[in-house]
Amino acid sequence: PPRLRVAPSPTGDPHVGTAYMSLFNLGFVRRHGGRFVLRIEDTDRARFRADSEQQVFDTLRWLGLTWDEGPDVGGPYAPYRQSERLATYQPYVDRLLADGRAYRCWCSQERLARMREEQRAHKRPTGYDRLCLGKSEQERKALGGTTDTPVVRMLVPDDVALTFTDLIRGEVSAPRPDDQVILKADGFPTYHLAVVVDDHLMGITHVVRGEEWISSTPKHLLLYRWLGFETPEFAHMPLLRNSDKSKISKRKNPAARLTWFLEQGYLPEALLNFLALLGYGQPDEEEIFTFEQFSASFEWSRVNTVGPVFDLDKLNWLNGHYVRALEEAEFTRRLLAFADGSADVAVLPDVIAAAAPLVQERIATLAEGLDMMRFLLVDEAAFSVDEAAAAKQLGAPGQEVLSAALPALEAAEPWDAATIEAALRGALVDGLALKPRNAFGPIRVAVTGRTVSPPLFESMQILGRERSLARLRGAVR
Ligand code: ATP
Ligand code: GLU
Repeated sequence: PPRLRVAPSPTGDPHVGTAYMSLFNLGFVRRHGGRFVLRIEDTDRARFRADSEQQVFDTLRWLGLTWDEGPDVGGPYAPYRQSERLATYQPYVDRLLADGRAYRCWCSQERLARMREEQRAHKRPTGYDRLCLGKSEQERKALGGTTDTPVVRMLVPDDVALTFTDLIRGEVSAPRPDDQVILKADGFPTYHLAVVVDDHLMGITHVVRGEEWISSTPKHLLLYRWLGFETPEFAHMPLLRNSDKSKISKRKNPAARLTWFLEQGYLPEALLNFLALLGYGQPDEEEIFTFEQFSASFEWSRVNTVGPVFDLDKLNWLNGHYVRALEEAEFTRRLLAFADGSADVAVLPDVIAAAAPLVQERIATLAEGLDMMRFLLVDEAAFSVDEAAAAKQLGAPGQEVLSAALPALEAAEPWDAATIEAALRGALVDGLALKPRNAFGPIRVAVTGRTVSPPLFESMQILGRERSLARLRGAVR
């Protein structure tokens, strides 16, 4: 049975690409009854962030992209954190050195920078010039520009194979690689050595990763051959792109951070559906489907090679669809959970439950839902009317509406939506001969603070008589 893995580096907030890769790995794994491994690739100590690993666990679990083996759940090939496997890599480095496949390099950073500058100035191909190759430490140090602790580099042969077969792209070719560093001065392997050793030792059958790794694959294939490892299959996924074709990146797109989707109140099932739609054609061109449906018919040949545009409008549309499809009780539960995580409003479970059906049809995200009921949750002292809304609705005609509405509402009994509506219609539509739109606009702005709100009479019922009247009185000039 197949064994696949996702191998994020804990360098900050997890990238949405990590979820995207996990989804496609898992789509294949679940179809074929294989196992899915989560491996933490924390060999880059300069970019390491301590809280990143937990965020990877939390966001992938939130999406239901769960792993069969990993640092937190264990498994037969533990440890699954590369920093805990340093002793595993060393013998492979020694062997490559002994076999003449690799060599030590003492060049200092300054010397390498000078070398690159000269290469550029003379328009020569860039890449390590092999000054250290074939030299002993003494011989090399006599030439200057060295550091004490060497790195180890691969000796890439002239006849390195530059093409390979990809499950998505077919025959792929990559540029000739440099003499890649495989062991750093700090004793940590680089990604290239660690990924090959671990994929082999962990029995990975299919390496599914972003297309930016195509250029690294020839180096990896050399390592597989030199170490006598069987090569896995490769599938290089298209990167997610902006509409200008640039790749989405955490530096430029807030939506490249997985936690952003949690903060915005997207539903995990909608985000999964969205990610699955990107770059993947469902057999019947259906746009709404579950993970199980996606997995049941999964084929690599359906993955597009062209980078899909990360279209948030589409996600909003999908999310709205999933929001409306929830049972009312479940929608309320999700909204409550979301409100719990967002600190700036009071979480009043009864109010949220009462208002949930009023917003469910009107929103794309849970954040929008909570925002729409903010006027019900804020402290009376913190309530304020939007300035533009006040300018539009609380001028002279609005004041007339308020004066007529107040006594009618004071007399309304009981305080429920039907009675409130009857009182307001009587006073404003019949009494002042106003069109409903003109009659209720000022009331809406005074009570909710905005020109757009959930249905007015239900909102006033939930807000209660005292607070509704206080807000109306507060709007009188
Ligand atoms: P930035 O994109 O701003 O450079 P980053 O440096 O954190 O952010 P990487 O560390 O390069 O991103 O990538 C983290 C993971 O996310 C990698 O596995 C990579 O394959 C994946 N990834 C990065 N960009 C994309 C993208 N546009 N689409 C899909 N996956 C991506
Ligand atoms: N650590 C690499 C990354 O985060 C893994 C790439 C791979 O899957 O080989 O991009």
